[in-house]
Amino acid sequence: MVPAITRCPQCGGVRLSWPSRKQFSCDDCGFLLYLNVAAAVAVIIECRGRLLFGVRKHEPARGMLDLPGGFVDPDETAEEALRRELREELQIDVPNPHYLFSFPNRYLYRGIEYDTLDLIFLVRFDTPPAITAGDDLESVLWLSRDAIDFGRIGFPSLQHAVRRYLETS
Ligand SMILES: [Zn+2]
Repeated sequence: MVPAITRCPQCGGVRLSWPSRKQFSCDDCGFLLYLNVAAAVAVIIECRGRLLFGVRKHEPARGMLDLPGGFVDPDETAEEALRRELREELQIDVPNPHYLFSFPNRYLYRGIEYDTLDLIFLVRFDTPPAITAGDDLESVLWLSRDAIDFGRIGFPSLQHAVRRYLETS
């Protein structure tokens, strides 16, 4: 996709190059910026054969199903990011998230496409936890395994993740 950046942030020049998806440079002043893959976390929460999904309130993928999660902050472990996101989004505490696998994703936000690597975790509950949907979510849904419509999951990486989880567990 065409990047939204049209002028060099250092010299204002317009002769910009993207030698690869992760690298941006200015032909006039030599300014160079790496846009490396950003780490993100997402969690599959299962309880009594049902998986928890959030309904997104904002773009991208507004109104679509999402797994709880978000971007990893600087100096944070993936596990810390996951626990923080779960407190913010659902107001639950999860002591021991179990890492499953990862999928690459592209996240379009305000005209800029970010390459992410979604690290997928699993949390299982024996009894449904008390959940309060945070500001970024329209609502939360518990969906039984056979009632999940993959086309309603907003991001391909998370479609893959849920599908693989259901096939392998
Ligand atoms: Zn420049």
